[in-house]
Amino acid sequence: MTAQIISGTALSQQIRQEVSQRAAALTTQGKQPGLAVILVGENPASQVYVRNKVKACEDCGFYSILEKYDADLSEATLLAHIDRLNHDPKINGILVQLPLPAHINANKVIEAIAAEKDVDGFHISNAGLLMTGQPLFRPCTPYGVMKMLEAINYPVRGANAVVVGASNIVGKPQAMLLLQAGATVTICNSKTRDLGAHTRNADILVVATGKRNIVTADMVKPGAVVLDVGMNRDDDGKLCGDVDYANVKEVAGYITPVPGGVGPMTITMLLVNTIEAAERNL
Ligand code: NAP
Repeated sequence: MTAQIISGTALSQQIRQEVSQRAAALTTQGKQPGLAVILVGENPASQVYVRNKVKACEDCGFYSILEKYDADLSEATLLAHIDRLNHDPKINGILVQLPLPAHINANKVIEAIAAEKDVDGFHISNAGLLMTGQPLFRPCTPYGVMKMLEAINYPVRGANAVVVGASNIVGKPQAMLLLQAGATVTICNSKTRDLGAHTRNADILVVATGKRNIVTADMVKPGAVVLDVGMNRDDDGKLCGDVDYANVKEVAGYITPVPGGVGPMTITMLLVNTIEAAERNL
């Protein structure tokens, strides 16, 4: 069996078209959706991410601003910038690109963003709302994974879902969204004993560890849906995921590639969260 590929690039195009139409409708009413992205420091990967995010906003007709600050920006000054954006009526969403320099407390910064503008969905009140089954903003990467399952009409209800990775930004919210959709969810972490015993039981397998080839073909149930969140470099420096793609695609029923899978969906769902914020504001 060779798996069907779920293309995040193709699905993103479709969703972004809908987002553009909703943005145009808001703009006609004088309420153009607006996203502010804050970047502190010179992290090269972060610079690429924020550029892509701002460009995606512009392509969809959003108002977007990128505020770049030097790595020695004080925490107090950053908090003051966030406060200004919290009160700016043109801004519906605020995103602070992580990681932040070590002298800045990232949790404090995230909590400073107004919950109703927290389009990353990382604010503790948004995490709590998700946990209690009443999400306001769903974190973009797990939200994108759910959209991919929706796109293939996968019956999540009652399925065994295994999430490998338990970070606050991917693994934990992913597990909550799957649980909310009716799956029976297992969350694995670096201390999990016999990872394969869990993954082989998965109808839906989401892998988000940052460890290349952590999931091999013998760890996958035939016909399973494998969603690879990981972003790593292979020996030739090319982008690859956490899953041994070449071999796993011979066992899985569906698989997401890297690049062109979950990555583009993450930015797309940021646009969706921003438009939802703007519509709620209306
Ligand atoms: P993270 O904060 O480093 O968390 C990694 C998680 O993986 C942790 O929970 C860790 O367990 C777990 N883990 C590590 N080794 C493991 C092992 N051998 N077996 C089972 N679990 C293991 O990473 P993250 O921010 O969630 O990101 C994960 C990956 O996704 C990275 O490659 C990142 O670049 C990528 N990513 C991609 C997108 C996208 O848009 N495609 C978005 C976000 C992140 P412990 O909790 O025990 O430490």
